[in-house]
Amino acid sequence: MAKVLCVLYDDPTGGMPARYARDGLPAMDRYPDGQRLPTPEATDFTPGELLGSVSGELGLRSFLERQGHELVVTSDKEPPGSEFDRHLADAEIVISQPFWPAYLTAERIANAPNLKLVVTAGIGSDHTDLDAAIDRGITVAEVTYCNSISVAEHVVMMILSLVRNYLPSHQVVRDGGWNIADCVARSYDLEGMHVGTVAAGRIGLAVLRRLAPFDVHLHYTDRRRLPESVEQELGLTFHADARAMVPNCDVVTINAPLHPETQGLFDDDLLATMRRGAYLINTARGLIVDRDAIVRALESGQLAGYAGDVWYPQPAPADHPWRTMPNHGMTPHISGSTLSAQTRYANGTREILESYFAGTPIRDEYLIVDGGKLAGTGAKSYSARS
Ligand code: NDP
Repeated sequence: MAKVLCVLYDDPTGGMPARYARDGLPAMDRYPDGQRLPTPEATDFTPGELLGSVSGELGLRSFLERQGHELVVTSDKEPPGSEFDRHLADAEIVISQPFWPAYLTAERIANAPNLKLVVTAGIGSDHTDLDAAIDRGITVAEVTYCNSISVAEHVVMMILSLVRNYLPSHQVVRDGGWNIADCVARSYDLEGMHVGTVAAGRIGLAVLRRLAPFDVHLHYTDRRRLPESVEQELGLTFHADARAMVPNCDVVTINAPLHPETQGLFDDDLLATMRRGAYLINTARGLIVDRDAIVRALESGQLAGYAGDVWYPQPAPADHPWRTMPNHGMTPHISGSTLSAQTRYANGTREILESYFAGTPIRDEYLIVDGGKLAGTGAKSYSARS
């Protein structure tokens, strides 16, 4: 019987919701590209419930315990000596979400001799040292597509919030004020601007599709070109890499995974090539940008705004400079953890566990590392140590 160690974020400060804002979720049966939604044999929770925090347990407890497995759920993951570290020593499966990542470093993997499966209940498995997982023959899987649209919606919200100066204007109202000039002195229309995405995978392409009706000029860069029909439909301009794209853009959104090719991509040098007063939105991973270079670019006015929900490390320390830098619209890491997304990634996690326990193949699109190499989506979208 397996020990399953699940690291989830803390419950709401006021306790689990007694009632939800809405009754249920819209019906869906497929993702936009036709991929099947997660299809576990059964679901032991009510769709739309809070599943990603400790008491939600991703809806897994009765499924696992019925089969005699042990489920340990904790939010205590740092520093060494945490509950996570104590249970890792004999865990076979580790599950965590990128919002509250269980950082599985090479050192931690070395201290987990029984570890065979690491599941990201979400998308983005960079919190696991993939090279160490490859070396140890550990399978790494994530719930591909589960929250890509959730993030794309968040990106569009953040672009509009920054360009229209929404957050400071809302604060004026909350503070009892009415100074219109204070609100509009930094407010523009998005219409006519040049917007580019670094990566046009599931999220990046969904952002482009959602922005097309705003009558903007759309740009993208990716390791692979989109089909010509899509480029024509959306009027896309392709660029060979981010360096070629960003000088042409008023708004840049980052939608690539964090891996050796993208780590530290947005440094002082790249930011200096952007248009003065550009906006940068990063919902991909905090380490794709240089933390202090972003602060400098906002302070100098090179960037007119920065927003996103991804930080390093997570949770971000109270004195993280992004909390206090000018003209930012940061949130904690929430874009992919809507109640809608939680239902999908809880179901996807269960589907992966069902396959693992039954000894049947995990869906190829869920795989990041398998059989000692990058596999499935991992082989397409990530890179390993050279
Ligand atoms: P996809 O796998 O669909 O897309 C990733 C895209 O990035 C692929 O098209 C890939 O190219 C491209 N890519 C990889 N490396 C580069 C590079 N060096 N330059 C340009 N493009 C590159 O994933 P999603 O769109 O669903 O998610 C993307 C990322 O967003 C995740 O990996 C995760 O880090 C982040 N994310 C954040 C969430 C949040 O809550 N904030 C939630 C979900 C995801 P190709 O495959 O063509 O080689």
